[in-house]
Amino acid sequence: MKIKKVEAFVVSHELDEPFHFSQWEYQSRKICLVRVTSDDGTYGWGEGYGPAGMIKAGIEFFTPFIEGMNPLEHETVWQEMYSRSLDYARRGVMLAALSAVDIALWDIKGKHFGLPVSTLLGGRKSEYVQPYASGLYFSRHKDLAVKLADEAVMYKEQGFRGIKMKVGLGVATDLKHITAVRKAIGYDVELMIDSNHAYSLREAVDLCNRIEDMGISWFEEPVSPEHYDSYKQLREKTNIPVSGGECEYLRHGFFQLFNNNSVDIAQPDICAAGGITEVKKISAMANTFGVDLIPHTWGTGIAIHAAIHFLSNLDISQERMHRPIPWIELDRTENALRDILTEPLVSPNNGLIKVPEKPGLGVDVNMDMFEKYLINDQADF
Ligand code: CA
Repeated sequence: MKIKKVEAFVVSHELDEPFHFSQWEYQSRKICLVRVTSDDGTYGWGEGYGPAGMIKAGIEFFTPFIEGMNPLEHETVWQEMYSRSLDYARRGVMLAALSAVDIALWDIKGKHFGLPVSTLLGGRKSEYVQPYASGLYFSRHKDLAVKLADEAVMYKEQGFRGIKMKVGLGVATDLKHITAVRKAIGYDVELMIDSNHAYSLREAVDLCNRIEDMGISWFEEPVSPEHYDSYKQLREKTNIPVSGGECEYLRHGFFQLFNNNSVDIAQPDICAAGGITEVKKISAMANTFGVDLIPHTWGTGIAIHAAIHFLSNLDISQERMHRPIPWIELDRTENALRDILTEPLVSPNNGLIKVPEKPGLGVDVNMDMFEKYLINDQADF
């Protein structure tokens, strides 16, 4: 079996209502997908997380080196891509390109053997994953606290057992928003906060001191991902679990987070940190250090399905009869690329998602929708 064709595509959805977090405003969602086809016609889909046009260029860079290789030997292909980019791309979008191809190879491998990716990974330790609603972004609403509280109540009513909200507008404003959301949803729904590294250590400590008794399940990216020691110091000053790693890459990057005692929860993105192949290795290391792992997940049904299979196979450190169901991040912002580009639709039932048993990732692209959202002819990042 040989890799015959590697095709990278950029799909884009212009948003009806722009949204923003502590760093940037978004007017559209652009995502790079890859379709790898083998000489027997079996194809697999993958996805990269990051600037779509640059990831597409990265995939096109790798393509001549991996065409003709055996798609079932995903570690061999991974090593080829890694070796070809190591000298100038130890972090960042080239690794998102590598990740996208790696995910497509797992999809091919599953289809070839007629097995779901979770089985290829070693089996399902959990039959279900538990989505938390990732939303509560900032908008130009005149009373944002009310808008955020209403949105959180909507997720609760939809059956979500956890909700993550954005912070990073300043400690006083954040406190007002968190208080409003917690009051609206009560304490039977888990609440997480995410500042997208908006704060200095001093500001992050200040915010933690003010919300210590509000039952926050984790504080995500409180400070710059460059400041491993600030993460560690924050953990020493608060009881709120600290999470991070969506801007981290490869086992080598995560080793720094683990070895510095920087996080309670590591959050690699499977579509950026090195694909399913590498994040499985990162998860083994997290387990060794006693750190929890809940991937950052963002994008289309391809990214979500990769995360579902990965999470179902995740090692669980705490041996006990009643194990927690793994969390999966489920972005709730407006995104047609998540909702109608791929099939089947990812839809939680009673707050849970059953791990699919179809071969491969168990997801396919709707080609009518694909044609609608494809912007391949534009040099658009
Ligand atoms: Ca985040």
